[in-house]
Amino acid sequence: MSHINLSKEDFEKLLVKQFQIIYRDLNGDPRKTCMGRGLEINNGWFNILYDLSVKLEAIADEQSLHLKNNPEYDGADTRIVFAQIKEKFGALRVYINNWPEDRKQIEDLVRMAEQQSSIMCEICGEPGKTRSGVWMLTLCDKHHEENQRRIAMEQARYAWNYDLFTIRHKFLSRVDFESDHVEPWDQMKWEDLPVELQDLLAPRLKAVINALLIDSFKKERK
Ligand SMILES: [Zn+2]
Repeated sequence: MSHINLSKEDFEKLLVKQFQIIYRDLNGDPRKTCMGRGLEINNGWFNILYDLSVKLEAIADEQSLHLKNNPEYDGADTRIVFAQIKEKFGALRVYINNWPEDRKQIEDLVRMAEQQSSIMCEICGEPGKTRSGVWMLTLCDKHHEENQRRIAMEQARYAWNYDLFTIRHKFLSRVDFESDHVEPWDQMKWEDLPVELQDLLAPRLKAVINALLIDSFKKERK
């Protein structure tokens, strides 16, 4: 059964219900456990995490039996527990507390899950690739394209805001924007701008317009 379409909240509820030992700190006090922040991954990896949880909870169940049968048991809960579940460098990253002496079995399971995530889109779970950039993300082609477009829009918007700032402070500093009697600079025509400013703005404007056109074109096609 796939869990990809569940909301993060519902998926967390399911995990806590089905894997009561290893998720016992989920949504706990954020000052005591990183699990207080909840799952820090997107839906595409929910199934990987679920499968890993099945195996780890089984190990934790065995630990419960050992504790119960240990005459020296002092009441401390030494069973494995998730300490943090997040995305790092484009892959699932899982931290565990209360490692048993023999770590290998758990390490292998965790490593396998992390490797699986590095070729699976974090958004939708389809086959993906780890894309480099400011943030490394593992995405399918469709979500990579969407992400690139979003970044281009953000950069264009940032450049545009910078340009507006420049216009106000460098080229139009003589205008008092607070006063009622200013020349309404936003009604200025392109030809009114100094050539120096036109040169600065033209490529930026082109980038903004292109980004907007691509965006509306994609929306129309849907
Ligand atoms: Zn995807």
